[in-house]
Amino acid sequence: MTRVGIGYDVHRFAVGRRCVIGGVDIPHPMGLSGHSDADVLLHALSDALLGAAGLGDMGRYFPEEDPRWEGVSSLVLLAEVARRLASAGYRVVNADAVVIAEAPRISPHTEKMRANISQTLSIPPDAINVKATTHEQMGCIGRGEGIAAQATCMIEQTR
Ligand code: MG
Repeated sequence: MTRVGIGYDVHRFAVGRRCVIGGVDIPHPMGLSGHSDADVLLHALSDALLGAAGLGDMGRYFPEEDPRWEGVSSLVLLAEVARRLASAGYRVVNADAVVIAEAPRISPHTEKMRANISQTLSIPPDAINVKATTHEQMGCIGRGEGIAAQATCMIEQTR
């Protein structure tokens, strides 16, 4: 049996923060604000995976008031999500995602993001796809106030 999931996340820019997307530290005058490293792409993907398995969302496992997750790499959170899926009897078939940002430019980094995700989920790189687009200068993302990401995935039962 296969199941699908979706995830969406948005983080606002803040000065003095790193800009980490898909586990890649991208040079930029501003970073994303949040409790962890605020990796908007990995949060959308993690929510998609949890959703596909019917396991809720990231807020259930990584609450903002928990000091354990302060400043943590979201690759660690994604690995924990993968562990929960595996113990629930699921494996990831594939995942697709899009990062929506005016700046920085995302596309030069998507192959590295893909590698980071495939390594963390222990699935082949061709099972992961990361795309980038702008918001055509419309709305809060278009004004460069933050970055958004959407993800979708398919998982299947292993037992
Ligand atoms: Mg988030």
